[in-house]
Amino acid sequence: MNIQMQVCGLIILILIFYFYHRQDTVGLFTEILFKRALYVGIACLSLDILSIILIVNREMLPEWLVKAECKMYLVSLVWTGYTALEYACADAFRITRANRFVRIFGFAVGAISLVIFLLPVQIFCEGNVVYTYGPACIATYIGAVCLILVTLFYVVQKGQRMNPRRRRAIRIWMVMWMAAALIQFFNSQLLVVGFASAMGIVILFFELENPEANIDRKTGFFNARAFTDFIRQRYNGEINSCGMLVSLESTQTNNLQSEQVEDVMIEMAEFFRRIPEAKKFKTDETEYALIFDSTEKMDRAYAMIEDRFQREWLEGMDNMAPIILQPYYVMVPSGSVARNADELLGLLRYFRVHIMDNPENHVIIIDEGNVAKKRAREEMLDMIIAAMEEDRVEIFFQPIFSTRERKFVCAEALVRIRKEDGGIIPPGLFIPVAEETGLIAKLGERVFEKTCRFIKNNKPEQYGLKYIEVNLSVIQCENKALAKAYIDIMDKYKINPAFINLEITETASIIMKKTLLENMKTLIDYGVTFSLDDFGNGESNLNYIVDMPVHIVKFDKDMTQAYFESEKAKYVLQAATDMIQGLELKVVAEGVETAEQLRELERLGIDYIQGYYFSKPIAERHFIEFLKLKNA
Ligand code: C2E
Ligand code: MG
Ligand code: MG
Repeated sequence: MNIQMQVCGLIILILIFYFYHRQDTVGLFTEILFKRALYVGIACLSLDILSIILIVNREMLPEWLVKAECKMYLVSLVWTGYTALEYACADAFRITRANRFVRIFGFAVGAISLVIFLLPVQIFCEGNVVYTYGPACIATYIGAVCLILVTLFYVVQKGQRMNPRRRRAIRIWMVMWMAAALIQFFNSQLLVVGFASAMGIVILFFELENPEANIDRKTGFFNARAFTDFIRQRYNGEINSCGMLVSLESTQTNNLQSEQVEDVMIEMAEFFRRIPEAKKFKTDETEYALIFDSTEKMDRAYAMIEDRFQREWLEGMDNMAPIILQPYYVMVPSGSVARNADELLGLLRYFRVHIMDNPENHVIIIDEGNVAKKRAREEMLDMIIAAMEEDRVEIFFQPIFSTRERKFVCAEALVRIRKEDGGIIPPGLFIPVAEETGLIAKLGERVFEKTCRFIKNNKPEQYGLKYIEVNLSVIQCENKALAKAYIDIMDKYKINPAFINLEITETASIIMKKTLLENMKTLIDYGVTFSLDDFGNGESNLNYIVDMPVHIVKFDKDMTQAYFESEKAKYVLQAATDMIQGLELKVVAEGVETAEQLRELERLGIDYIQGYYFSKPIAERHFIEFLKLKNA
C-alpha cells in the first residue's frame, strides 16, 4: 500500500503533539490556532491512512462506508487549509477571536464540505496502488487551492503587519502544499498532499510555536517575548486583567555581586511558584511580571511578597550595608488605562525606569492620574522639540539692581518658549521635562548662544550692564564637554568672558561634584564667574559656599519672602549674609516685590536686588529700552 508517506507524517505530528503538550503554554491565541491546525492535521492523515486501508479491504465492507470515509478524508483536507488560513490571519488582523473575514470563509468551507459529500467519489485500487478520484476529489482540489491562494494573498497583502517569521513559515507551507497538490493532481498515485500539510505544521512548530521558545530556562517561567504577546492579546481581546512588575534593584551602585542578585531572584521564583492565581513571566535579568485576573488577587500577592522580602530575602545580605537590594513594584490595576496594548507596554517600561527616581516610594500604580501626567510630559517634550526646531525658544532678561551703584548692573537670562499662538510657556513647565529627557543639554546651549548673540548685537555694556547671569542645569554640569562647548560659543561671538556669570545650584554641587568642579575650573581660567543659585531652598549647606569657587550667592525668593514673615528666618538670612560677605562674596536677594522689602534689604547690606518690584523678566527686544531709560 502506498501509505508510507502518510504514516511518516502522522508519526511526526504525534511526536510534535507529545512535545507540545509536555510544555506549559502561555495561552496565546496563536497557540490555540496552532493546536487546532495540529489536531486537524492529525485527523486528516489518520483519515487518509484509514481510507487506503478500507479501500484495500473494500470486499469485506459495505461500499457506502468506504466512500463515506473517503469523503471524510477529502473534507478534512479542506479544513486543514482553513486552519492554515486562520493561523495566518491571527497575526495580520491582530485578532483574538475569529474575525468576520475568517468566519465567512468558515461558512464557505462548510459549504464545500457539503458539496464534497454530495458529489460522487471513485476509488482506484490495483495491487499496491490505491487512491480516490472523481468529482468529489476535484471539488476538494478546487476548495483547497482557493484557500491556499487566499492565504498567500493575505500574507502578501498584510505582510507588513505580520511577524516576519510567521510570514515566512506560512509562505513556505502554502507553496509546499501547492506543489504537492499539483504533483498529486497530475500523478494521482503519489499521495503527497497529506504529508505536505504535516511538514507545514513541523515548520510552524520549529519556527514559531515551540513552547520552549517562550520559556525562561532558569526559572521555567514565560519569557519577555511571551509577555509582550500575552499583553497584546489580553488587551486586544479586552480580557480584564491586572498585573505587576516586580524588579530588584541595588540601592547602592558597584558593590553588589551579581550572584547575590541571582540568588534572590531564584528564591523569588521559588516563592512565586506558590501563587497559583498568577501567570508568571521573567521579563528581565532582575524583573518578574505577574498577571492576575483581579486586583484583589494582585493585592494579596503583593502583600505576601512584600512580607517575605522584609523577613527573609534581605536577611542573607545583612553582612553588607543595610538595604542593598530593594524591590520595586509597578502595578496596573484592572480596567484599562492605556489606549492600546503598545501604549500599555510603553507605560510599564516608562514607570519601571522612573520609579527609581524616588527611592522612598517603591510602589507605583499606573492609574489614570499617572498616565495623564506621563502623556502631558510627552506632549511637553514634543512641544520643546518643535520649539527648538522652529526657533521659538526666547530669552527674557530680568534686571538686577546694585544697592551700592544704585543702578542695574546685571541681568538674569531666563528662557521661555513662545507658543504657536503667541502665548508664553514659563520654564517651570518645561525645564523639568527637558532635564528628565536629557534635552536640557541642547536647550541650555541654545539659551547660552542666544544670550551671547544678544550681547554681541546689542552691546548692553554701553548702558551700564557689567555681566549677565545664565542658569546651568544640574544635568548640564554632569557633562564633561560642557566647558569646551560654552567656551566655543563665547569665542564664536567674541564675548568677553567676564561678561558671563553662570548660575549653578547646590544639587549640582552634591551630585556631580568632580565633573562640575572640572568644568568650573576650565571656565574660571577662561574668565567666567559663577553664582550659587537658589540658596535657602531645600537643604542649604553653608559648607558649599566655602567649597565652591563662586563669586555670588543668590537667596531664593522663598528665603527672601520668609525674611519678612518670621523672626527666625530673619536671623538666618542675616547670619548667612554676614557669613557670605565675610568670605568676600556678593549676595543677591531674589523675589523682592515691594519698596519696603527693598529698603529693609538695603539696610541689611544686601549687594544686589532682583525682583518684580523693579521688573519682571523682559523680552529681549525691550530690555535695552529698559536699560536706557532706567540707567540714564
Ligand atoms: P531661578 O534661576 O531662581 O530664576 C528666578 C525666578 O524667579 C524666575 O522665574 C523669575 O521670573 C522669578 N522671579 C524673579 N523675581 C521675582 C519676584 O519678585 N516674585 C516672584 N514671584 N518671582 C520672581 P522663571 O523665569 O519662571 O524661572 C524659573 C526657574 O526656571 C529659574 O529659577 C531657573 O531655575 C529655571 N530656568 C529659567 N531659565 C533657565 C535656563 O535657561 N536654563 C535652566 N537650566 N534653567 C532655567
Ligand atoms: Mg537662576
Ligand atoms: Mg534663583
